[in-house]
Amino acid sequence: MSGAAPEKMVYAFGGGKAEGRSGMKNLLGGKGANLAEMANLGLPVPPGFTITTEVCTAYYANDRQYPEGLKEEVEKALGEVERITGKKFGDPSNPLLVSVRSGARASMPGMMDTVLNLGLNDDTVAGLAKLSGDERFAYDSYRRFIQMYSDVVLGVAHHTFEEILDTYKDDRDYVLDTSMTAEDWQAVIAEYKEAVESALGKPFPQDPQEQLWGAIDAVFGSWMNERSKTYRRLNNIPAEWGTAVNVQAMVFGNMGETSATGVAFTRNPSTGEKRVYGEFLINAQGEDVVAGIRTPQSLTKQSREEQGSDEPSLEEAMPETYKELAAVFQKLEDHYRDMQDIEFTIEQGKLYMLQTRNGKRTAKAALKIAVDLCAEGKISEDEAVMRVDPAALDQLLHPSLDPNAERDLIAKGLPASPGAASGEVVFTADEAERLAQEGRRVMLVRVETSPEDIHGMHAAAGIVTARGGMTSHAAVVARGMGRACVCGAGDLKIEKDGSKFTVHGREVKKGDQITIDGSTGEIFFGAVATIEPELSGDFGKLMEWADKHRRMRVRANAETPLDAKTARGFGAEGIGLCRTEHMFFDADRINVVREMILADNEQGRRAALDRLLPFQRGDFEQLFREMKGLPVTIRLLDPPLHEFLPHGEKEIGEVANALGRDVKDVKDRLSQLHEQNPMLGHRGCRLAVSYPEIAEMQARAIFEAAIAIGKETGDPVQPEIMVPLVSTKKELDLVKDRIDAVAQKVFAEAGEKLVYTVGTMIELPRAALTADKIAHSAEFFSFGTNDLTQTTFGLSRDDAGSFLPNYLRHNILDQDPFVSLDQEGVGQLVAIGAQKGRETRSLIKLGICGEHGGDPASISFCEGIGLDYVSCSPYRVPIARLAAAQASLAAKKRAEG
Ligand code: PEP
Ligand code: MG
Repeated sequence: MSGAAPEKMVYAFGGGKAEGRSGMKNLLGGKGANLAEMANLGLPVPPGFTITTEVCTAYYANDRQYPEGLKEEVEKALGEVERITGKKFGDPSNPLLVSVRSGARASMPGMMDTVLNLGLNDDTVAGLAKLSGDERFAYDSYRRFIQMYSDVVLGVAHHTFEEILDTYKDDRDYVLDTSMTAEDWQAVIAEYKEAVESALGKPFPQDPQEQLWGAIDAVFGSWMNERSKTYRRLNNIPAEWGTAVNVQAMVFGNMGETSATGVAFTRNPSTGEKRVYGEFLINAQGEDVVAGIRTPQSLTKQSREEQGSDEPSLEEAMPETYKELAAVFQKLEDHYRDMQDIEFTIEQGKLYMLQTRNGKRTAKAALKIAVDLCAEGKISEDEAVMRVDPAALDQLLHPSLDPNAERDLIAKGLPASPGAASGEVVFTADEAERLAQEGRRVMLVRVETSPEDIHGMHAAAGIVTARGGMTSHAAVVARGMGRACVCGAGDLKIEKDGSKFTVHGREVKKGDQITIDGSTGEIFFGAVATIEPELSGDFGKLMEWADKHRRMRVRANAETPLDAKTARGFGAEGIGLCRTEHMFFDADRINVVREMILADNEQGRRAALDRLLPFQRGDFEQLFREMKGLPVTIRLLDPPLHEFLPHGEKEIGEVANALGRDVKDVKDRLSQLHEQNPMLGHRGCRLAVSYPEIAEMQARAIFEAAIAIGKETGDPVQPEIMVPLVSTKKELDLVKDRIDAVAQKVFAEAGEKLVYTVGTMIELPRAALTADKIAHSAEFFSFGTNDLTQTTFGLSRDDAGSFLPNYLRHNILDQDPFVSLDQEGVGQLVAIGAQKGRETRSLIKLGICGEHGGDPASISFCEGIGLDYVSCSPYRVPIARLAAAQASLAAKKRAEG
């Protein structure tokens, strides 16, 4: 052991007190911090100690060597556990047994290693038999320990032991483990030990100290295993955080019929309903409930009845213990002021609490719980707003099954994670990933899932398991990822060769479509139609509170009346970006657009533009009407013109024919318009510089529509006209002069004026750097962070998809910069642009309309530099509203110190 030691490396808990507390998650990990907190609350926590995350970091920094003094601190803490329990580690007559578990800052379910029953050997097992009065239990515990320790610490594969046990049982015609006697387990243990010795060339370690350090090494080691690395990558958890190790006195849920182990949520994690929700298994140990190997029983009588089960609930089987447990739930919820996810064990009628943490929940549950806790007076409105992860709202926007659609129900499982999804059946995670990469929607069907499957779960549209409860791996992970999931569909018989499953005599083959409803647990054959969700109730209330605290406005990027309507339904306060080019593609006008582009001169272009004018005016009228006086920013034509022209031979022929032009003419124009780098080519305001008549037509359509709708509704429309891809003030001036001239003409013709503004997008680095000059002409800026990211990185928006994943994999970039703003680089340009814009025009209106306008982290950045609004796609509007409120509240809190 070497290296500079952190000051304190081990924190003890138990016996009604603890050295740590819940605020020390970074140091003790979530599990360690909450164990300490529960001990401090006087709850029955088996005593133990936590080795800090700093030790993990030091261990890796120092070539997997522990810091000086760790051994002594561990010895001292273990001594304290011995004192509290009255047992001794390694004492054959009264042995202390411990569990060794990981516990990182963020929960990483099932990712890292755990060892239970540590301290058992050929001598102490006899002591355990005597103490428990149950020889069979003692030897069963010992064989479990050998199996787990050998697998996790010594690297002897799990199946080695399963095969030994299966053969042993087969030879004696045993079907269930319950047929095994103490003598049987002793015989199996002897075979296990032989298998270990022959695999490793040395015997299974008998020295408890050696066992303990082996397990501690394994837990720290598991921080860097592939599963953990993948999980961290998917969940943005930095490797530097490290894990803590918790060593805790064992309690046994498998000491007979008065013992049990269970997990519980203090409220329903799927719906948020205020009702204890959980499962338990009698005479079971450790992870048995979560592993989904046996089907657990309900905690409460009510849930048992609802599920139509005959197996008694805990409330019925052990009423006194249940009462005690329910009181603990209440105490923990009141203390943490949030829904708790709890693990407990009952050892011969005595209750022990093994874990509590804020429970993971669906977005629906998060909303309900936040709103309910506020109504119960436990948290304030501000806190309720801060409690819901904006990104999780996406789950609420997931589709559900169309009630009128035909459906062919083939099975039912547990409603593990909401949303409806369909896809083609695959049976392995690798296959799910492979097909999803080809753009296919897949449904991952497994007997059960394990942490090795997470890449496939991530790739799948939905997940089905045949085994496991609501707290099984599949359920927990799917809820976290927002994937629809049906668990424990026990009627599915999945072929081992992964070719099909059968259910009630029906066959469903690999590649067949199925649909699941994760809110009801139903599984259907075929692809069932889905419908979009409607939001109300708790959602509306939380959004109302969010809106009270929000400083920035939220607009939507929309061009069709339908998008505009959806956006308003989600609470958009205007349109921040209407991309007019989308309006040019409609079947009734694309050929006029082409005629305009193919024209040989200005006169020809103007003739075609005259025919386009009524279409554009109609588009804008609909949009203004739909937005009912809310601000609408309309951007002039942006993309290179060749995007509107046909490309294939056949299409070129058809267009030439329709327009009465020679095929050769069309081809000549196409090759004239061809560009090597169209993204950096003849697009944006550069089109208006070359063909000002296009901008003029668009300006006329905007003004005429605004006047018409102002008259029709009595609500004056104040259009905002936005010039794209500006890099110099003079470019903007040229276009703005044309717009202003058109305005004067239209106002004179109509005998009526209106207020309008002309602004620009800031989407090129030069524009950001010279924003003070541009602001002399621009009345508003909208940061086009899609192009700004592209041009700042010199990274093509259209091509980056094929190689960016490598950048993420190698941690060169933490996130795709087209999804979440690169604050360090691109963000700096946005900040400079905002600041320089304000230097010239102090009240200049500032917004963002790149995809980042709907990304919570980017929204928080926008709040920090004081933008006036964010604009995003309609479905992200609620996310943006909540994220903007959270950013405001966080800024207020920081300002208050
Ligand atoms: C942008 O570049 O950020 C933007 C909003 O414009 P577009 O995506 O249309 O290029
Ligand atoms: Mg752009």
